[in-house]
Amino acid sequence: MIDVLIVGAGISGLSLGVHLKREGFKVKVLEKEEIEGGNIKTIKKDGFILELGPQTILADKKVEEFLQDVGIKPQYAQEQAKIRYIYKKGKLIPLPMSPISFLTSPLFSLSGKLRVLKEPFIRPSIKTEESIQEFVIRRLGKEFLDYVVGPFISGVYAGDPKELSVKYAVRRVYELEQRFGSLIKGAIKLKALGPGGRLISFEDGNHTLIKRLGESLDLEKENVVLRIRKKEAKFIVDAKGGKYEAKAVVISAPATSASYLLREISWSASQVFDQIYYAPVVVVHASVDRGSVPPGFGFLIPRVENKKMLGVLFSSQIFKDRAPENKELLTIYMGGATDPEVIDYEDEKIFSLVEKELKEILSVNKVEFLNLTRWKRAIPQYTLGYGKYLELAKTLEEENPGLFLTGNYLYGVSVADCIRASYQVAQKVKDFLARV
Ligand SMILES: Cc1cc2nc3c(=O)[nH]c(=O)nc-3n(C[C@H](O)[C@H](O)[C@H](O)COP(=O)(O)OP(=O)(O)OC[C@H]3O[C@@H](n4cnc5c(N)ncnc54)[C@H](O)[C@@H]3O)c2cc1C
Repeated sequence: MIDVLIVGAGISGLSLGVHLKREGFKVKVLEKEEIEGGNIKTIKKDGFILELGPQTILADKKVEEFLQDVGIKPQYAQEQAKIRYIYKKGKLIPLPMSPISFLTSPLFSLSGKLRVLKEPFIRPSIKTEESIQEFVIRRLGKEFLDYVVGPFISGVYAGDPKELSVKYAVRRVYELEQRFGSLIKGAIKLKALGPGGRLISFEDGNHTLIKRLGESLDLEKENVVLRIRKKEAKFIVDAKGGKYEAKAVVISAPATSASYLLREISWSASQVFDQIYYAPVVVVHASVDRGSVPPGFGFLIPRVENKKMLGVLFSSQIFKDRAPENKELLTIYMGGATDPEVIDYEDEKIFSLVEKELKEILSVNKVEFLNLTRWKRAIPQYTLGYGKYLELAKTLEEENPGLFLTGNYLYGVSVADCIRASYQVAQKVKDFLARV
């Protein structure tokens, strides 16, 4: 009998599989698609390397340790990728990265700057949960929300700060207020505001990591899981490729698939997980002549600037060898929770909007389109009250020993979050198997 059957070969399922296999367990991974990796998809086209999903991974010590264990070398982002721009009134303005540059930056008005400097004197909220919008307006003011936090939330969640919970979506920031009473004081004490680490990818793109993880596992592709039942001390799993018996099952598929697979285990939990909203995202890849964009990571566009693009990454400047020598590769994001209808626009309409806005913002004459990807359900939104989903996952696991849930809708949306979570989930599975 299989010790652990893992449903879904995204980064969450694959990294978990690697830990469990290393512990000597008999692990099988079933994936419904022809290619493993879930959101992590890389293609090569006309000399370009296109990331259709995640572009960069913010690797902290734990992620670096994981990569070392699986024997894969990261490709680090180039030095110029440290410069990030925000679009404001026709210009790309570098995001200030130090107190001095903040004070001199044209990104904020004088009153906007003074409002930010008041932050250490603002008392913590007595409310149990706030949206990111409420939290940031209260602590740092509307300008900071519009020109820094809003674009950042677009970049990470393709999300709407009005809807997302500060406690669940940006837990670190929430905890700074809880621990230090102020974000600025907390950041000074901890010497950082955001999570630390280095931006990485891999030679030939992020799918190189997926391939390496998949190769080391007993992975069956094009084998969708259709039904999971508990029978005495084991699980019976019906999949396209047959029937499997396992001591433990981990569902590492998105919430909608998890909801479907849970219907015979807990009808009520199945109904609740189905409510999790994933924002849609359109990703366009385009090429322009080398030299027609400034050095940097790319730029984000605040929603108050009324553009359709959410942001543009200068992908060929972030990592080496992503484009032919005389070309720049741009990755453009549209849609998200603040503009979801873009997902249904015709290709031609999307291309013409992108071309118009790129020509307005950058000094480019000609834009060549390489690819368009529609993610109908791209990124789970950690909205107000999200704690109920996390509680439910915990209760479900307690009531059904041997059944585990993981994935980006539970333990954080970044690839690094998924890798870090795999250590904890592996420990839970290991503890369970030691008891049976
Ligand atoms: C457009 C986009 C850009 C992003 N950019 C970044 C970024 O720059 N940096 C970053 O860190 N993160 C980024 N992310 C987020 C990150 O990529 C994801 O959160 C992460 O890859 C999710 O991994 P996962 O394994 O939890 O889920 P998934 O990748 O969704 O994997 C789940 C797997 O389960 C499979 N599956 C589903 N149902 C079944 C079934 N019944 N049977 C068998 N298999 C099944 C699916 O086919 C899939 O392969 C981005 C995401 C998107 C969509």
